[in-house]
Amino acid sequence: MGVTADSLCFLCGNADEDQKHLFFECPYNLRCWQQCSTKFGMDRAPKCLHDIFQWILSKRITKFKKGVLSTFVMCVAYHIWSERNNDMWNSQIRCIDKVRNNILKHVYNRVNAVMPRDVSNRDHTWYTTLLAG
Ligand SMILES: [Zn+2]
Repeated sequence: MGVTADSLCFLCGNADEDQKHLFFECPYNLRCWQQCSTKFGMDRAPKCLHDIFQWILSKRITKFKKGVLSTFVMCVAYHIWSERNNDMWNSQIRCIDKVRNNILKHVYNRVNAVMPRDVSNRDHTWYTTLLAG
């Protein structure tokens, strides 16, 4: 990523740290995706950014639900990047369960902060059930 001379992935140390490896191939981050993606209805972890957009656009769901799914994707990417930086600067890697919980809390807080007034009861129930527990 240009910050250090060592190009190996900070999280696994098994491959060059490029964008594709960090977000879609690194074993640590794959587990993050797997832990969260089933909760959001993805049948597998995405292989690339195109996979994610295709998945969201192909779903016949409301605009609100697409917004929640987009928020989820952005939160996963943010937390993957955050864990990578935490490892690089502090030599600390959190367990996947903790990261998963942080991602879900982040999605919940973000969606609540911008919750539209006209969300249907059905969508609201879907959202609160999805992020409960
Ligand atoms: Zn890696």
